[in-house]
Amino acid sequence: AHEVHLARRPQGFPSPDDFALVERELPAPGPGEVEVANRSFSVDPYMRGRMNDVPSYVPPFRLDEAMDGRSVGEVTAVGPDVTDVAVGDLVLANLAWRDHGLSKARHLQKVPDVDGVDPRAYLGVLGAPGLTAWVGLLDVAGFRSGDAVFVSGAAGAVGSLVGQIAKQKGASRVVGSAGSAGKVAWLTGELGYDAAFNYKDAPVAEQLAKAMPDGLDVYFDNVGSEHLEAAIDVANDHARVAACGAIAHYNDTDTDPTPGPRNLFKIVKKRLAIQGFIVTDSLDRFPAFLEEVTPWVAEGRVTFAETVTEGVDHAVDAFLGLLRGENTGKALVAVR
Ligand code: NDP
Repeated sequence: AHEVHLARRPQGFPSPDDFALVERELPAPGPGEVEVANRSFSVDPYMRGRMNDVPSYVPPFRLDEAMDGRSVGEVTAVGPDVTDVAVGDLVLANLAWRDHGLSKARHLQKVPDVDGVDPRAYLGVLGAPGLTAWVGLLDVAGFRSGDAVFVSGAAGAVGSLVGQIAKQKGASRVVGSAGSAGKVAWLTGELGYDAAFNYKDAPVAEQLAKAMPDGLDVYFDNVGSEHLEAAIDVANDHARVAACGAIAHYNDTDTDPTPGPRNLFKIVKKRLAIQGFIVTDSLDRFPAFLEEVTPWVAEGRVTFAETVTEGVDHAVDAFLGLLRGENTGKALVAVR
C-alpha cells in the first residue's frame, strides 16, 4: 500500500517537504477488520488544522503515520468475525491519504446505491460538505424564505451548495465571493447566484456593498477576516451569521496573525447573531439532509463540481491546490 504521512508540522503555508509518500505491506485483516481498496478520497481545509500540534475539536495528525479523512473504496478482504460487510461492497471509510488500508468493520458505512448518483458524491455534495452547507444555512443561520444571503468561499464544496439551497428555498437574493473570474462566472451562470465578485479584485467591503445595496439577512462565512468585517458592515438588523470556517487564517503563524473584524460594536447595534458550528455535532441531521438533497442530486436540480487529482502520489498537490484555490467544488483524489 502507498500512504501519505505527515513528516513534520508545517509552519505557515505547507511545503511538499512536510509530507512523505511511504510504501508498506498491509497485514491480513485481523478479527473485526476489513481491507479496503480506495477509489477516491477527500482532501479538506480542516486537515490543515490537524497538521498543527494544538488542541482542537479533532485530534492532531501524528507524525510518521498515514493521515486520515473520508474515502470511498471497495472491500477486498475481510477478517474473522466480520459478517456485515463482504468482499466487493462499496464503503465509506476514514482511509484518506492512501490507496489501500485496513479499517474496523464497524467504522464503515455502505455507500447507498441510488440511480444517477456516483459513489463519489458521498464525499462532497451528499457527504460532510453537503451536510455542512445544509445544517449551517438552515439550522445555524435559521434561513427563512425571503432572506438575502451572502456566501464566501462560494465556489467551493460547501459554498457552492449553500447558495443553491438558499435559491431552492426562496432567498430574495444570493451573492457569492470567490477567488477567480472563472469561479465568479460559474456562480452567476450555472449555479444561479444573483451576483458574485472576485475578492481579489478590490476591497470586499466595497464589492459587497455594491452587490447587496439592500443589505444581507444571512452570511455564511467560510473565510473570516476581511469578509466577516464586510458582512457585518452590510448586515441588516437581526441578520444571522453561520460561522463555518475561516480559511483566510488557516496558515497563520503566531507571529503573523491575520487581523479579525474591527467593527464588532456593530454586532450590538444591529442585534446580529453570529453562531459558530462544527458539522460533526449535527450527524443526527444526516438522514433528513439525505432525504431532501439526494433527489436534487439524482435529478440534476443542483449543480456540483469536483476537482479530481489522479494518484496518491499527487495527493499533496491536491491538498496544496485546495489551499491555493485551484479547486472548483469538491477537491478529491482518485486512486489509480
Ligand atoms: P473549498 O472547496 O471551499 O476549498 C477551499 C477554498 O477556499 C479554495 O478553493 C479557495 O477558493 C478558498 N480560499 C483559500 N484561501 C483563501 C483566502 N485567503 N481567502 C478566501 N478564500 C480562500 O473547501 P470546503 O468547501 O471543504 O470548506 C469551506 C470552508 O468550510 C472552510 O473554511 C472549511 O474549513 C469550512 N468547513 C467547516 C466545517 C464545519 O463543520 N464548521 C465542515 C466543512 C468545512 P478561492 O479561489 O475562492 O480563494
